Amino acid sequence: VSTAARPLVSEDGRLTGAVVVYTDVTGWVESLAANQDLISNVSHEFKNPLNSIIGNVDLVLEEADSLPPHLAQRLLVVQRNAERLLELVADLTATTALNVHPKRTDLASLVETSLSSALASAQRSHVEIAADVPSPLWAYADPLRIGQVLDNLVSNAIKYSPDGGRISISATTDPEWVRLSVSDTGMGISDDDAAKVFNRFFRTESAQKAAIPGAGLGLSITRMIVERHGGSIMCESGEGQGSTFTVTLPAEGPPPSF
Ligand code: ADP
Repeated sequence: VSTAARPLVSEDGRLTGAVVVYTDVTGWVESLAANQDLISNVSHEFKNPLNSIIGNVDLVLEEADSLPPHLAQRLLVVQRNAERLLELVADLTATTALNVHPKRTDLASLVETSLSSALASAQRSHVEIAADVPSPLWAYADPLRIGQVLDNLVSNAIKYSPDGGRISISATTDPEWVRLSVSDTGMGISDDDAAKVFNRFFRTESAQKAAIPGAGLGLSITRMIVERHGGSIMCESGEGQGSTFTVTLPAEGPPPSF
């Protein structure tokens, strides 16, 4: 059951009562579960044929020298798009089945790994990227999943920044929480949209107008991962003013039970 309540206030400001609405959401929850099943089954069925397309195209491209250049060029397009589809399928699968296994993890080394894998694409986009994070930086986190979160935030920061942009990664801590921020000087996000960017399939109008490719899935997966750690993620931005995404994670795991 979902509930919503509103106070009833008289003209002179006195509280005179309240309206409470109870809604039976069983049908909605059931259809959501059915949708998740459908997505997960379809994604699974897509994987084999896609892997077969990619495998065969890779084999042909190994002999690219013996192909007419215009055909090799077309095959590269097939290869790129098939890989993109496979990534999409992986993203869709991740939204339905996502497990995290947190342990004591050094976030500084995850930041370093994420930076080194983003370096080439940052250079291609003429974007500067730097991190100022204390090392070690301990948190209670699943290294694979939080690595994925960092990769996603950093690749978005590159993707949505014009040439000459700057990206910085910083951290703050308190006894309970570790906060990692990824800031960019890119196109930014309006106040209205900043609340929606974590919704599945949401993309801002500016991203679409600029024809920047994307499916609107990365941030919804990112939020899911962070929340499964008991943490949170927020976006501070403004149109044309760059963006800062801050991930908050628990500094320590639960105390051992005796
Ligand atoms: P994708 O980038 O594949 O579209 P995401 O879920 O990662 O999907 O992001 C959702 C949307 O949020 C993007 O389409 C874009 O409109 C906006 N967005 C995300 N990161 C940034 C950023 N660093 N700067 C500006 N807009 C962003």
